[in-house]
Amino acid sequence: MATFISSTLMSTDHTPKPASAAPHAGDVVSAFPHKHLLGIEGLNPLEINYLLDLSDGYVEQNRQANKNKAILAGLTQINLFFENSTRTRTSFELAGKRLGADVINMSVATSSVRKGETLLDTAITLNAMHPDILVVRHGQSGAVKLLSEKVDGAVINAGDGWHEHPTQALLDALTIRRRKGRIEGLTVAICGDILHSRVARSNIHLLTTMGARVRVVAPPTLLPTAIERLGVEVHHRMETGLSDCDIVMMLRLQRERMEGSYLPSVREFFHLYGLDYDKLSVARPDALIMHPGPMNRGVEIDTVVADDIHRSAIQEQVEMGVAVRMACLDVLTRNRRAHASEALS
Ligand code: ASP
Ligand code: ASP
Repeated sequence: MATFISSTLMSTDHTPKPASAAPHAGDVVSAFPHKHLLGIEGLNPLEINYLLDLSDGYVEQNRQANKNKAILAGLTQINLFFENSTRTRTSFELAGKRLGADVINMSVATSSVRKGETLLDTAITLNAMHPDILVVRHGQSGAVKLLSEKVDGAVINAGDGWHEHPTQALLDALTIRRRKGRIEGLTVAICGDILHSRVARSNIHLLTTMGARVRVVAPPTLLPTAIERLGVEVHHRMETGLSDCDIVMMLRLQRERMEGSYLPSVREFFHLYGLDYDKLSVARPDALIMHPGPMNRGVEIDTVVADDIHRSAIQEQVEMGVAVRMACLDVLTRNRRAHASEALS
């Protein structure tokens, strides 16, 4: 169910703050009292705004000539990717390096998982190396949580199966909040392959929690059953789904996850659901176009629309991604330090 939050609860000052204005470790634990970031579900508006405010500071820092701030010096971050990803891994790698962490990338192709080692064996082996942060992507929903229960470091979910991709939803929220000045009260249409999309799930949780009105627009075969229970309106036609919306969020058609026949044909899909100027014409004139990438041009989005610098925020999403990941690394490692010093005192 959508939770509509009164504006008094939400931080209204969205002017970018320098990262140096970030609060002290003790404040972090109370503002974001979580050891891991496994999903958006369960986070409250204050916690989400806290991460977004901190991210704003990192956006500013990343636009300076000197982008580095060694607050993670001496800490080890392992990016453990059981599923291929260049974009997300690079973004997390850059975020960790800009904060001074030692960053190690471990991908399934080079690991012994292929040799029959289980997920939990991998977790136990890695744990013995004392990483402070593990950034984990896995093809199965729930695998990242399982791993988080076996390791001492903080775990960030970088996408698990069809379940959640929390840093994607945070970077989308940051993009929206900076462009529109708010999230509450906006109408957001999430369109396309909702069924297979962890991006859709994380965004639905975040946007409804922050008081946006969320519509999902897809053919019935690409919608999970009972999706309305997450507090969204369901539309099967772009004409009604996009009508007067402020944000059009397109999703990649996840053909690698489709075993049966979900679609008549890709051409037919583009005709009915692909975003072009004609379908966009019913949205608000200043509606923002978003896509988490990688895009299938000509499948879910027309290439000219995707590259329209006046309407599309797709490049900006990538920039926001690094800042959001820096904020998440910052918060979780400061929480660890605060807990460690409490334990010592
Ligand atoms: N899913 C894409 C990839 O694996 C984009 C992302 O990383 O989120 O590269
Ligand atoms: N990059 C996003 C993900 O990894 C979206 C996608 O791959 O379509 O879930």
